[in-house]
Amino acid sequence: RMGTVGAVARDAAGRLAAATSTGGMTNKRAGRVGDSPIIGAGTWADGRVAVSCTGTGEAFMKAAAAHEISALIRHAGLSLEEAARRVALEDVPRAGGRGGLIAVARDGAAALPFRAVLAQRNALDYLALDGQWAAAPGQRLLSDAVREARNSRTDGT
Ligand code: ASP
Repeated sequence: RMGTVGAVARDAAGRLAAATSTGGMTNKRAGRVGDSPIIGAGTWADGRVAVSCTGTGEAFMKAAAAHEISALIRHAGLSLEEAARRVALEDVPRAGGRGGLIAVARDGAAALPFRAVLAQRNALDYLALDGQWAAAPGQRLLSDAVREARNSRTDGT
């Protein structure tokens, strides 16, 4: 999984965007298309949330992982953190894969649940740490999410 690059972004007006670029999986079949370019599977952005995923693409496709986060927020009233964790730590493993994702919401809240600490720490490479994020009281700022992830040593391998 070397070389995966994912990004989520929120501008000053709260507009959201996501992008994911990948070299695919090791020993992938010729012609295999992973989840990264499939909108709703490995990548999603709407007026609510932007999501970029990395991991076993087939499971992210089965779970419609990136879009499912938006759906859980919209239909089930979950917070970004709850929705992101449910998808990355429950839905994707249930679909037979593992990995993680980065997500940012319109209000600046961020989440980066990962099944593997290694992937999580790699994810930090592509998070912007400019401290300029605005969030409502009680919500996690991107910088807090990053600090937690940096300190996390118990989440996997
Ligand atoms: N999700 C990608 C794939 O399955 C691999 C990755 O970039 O994490 O092709």
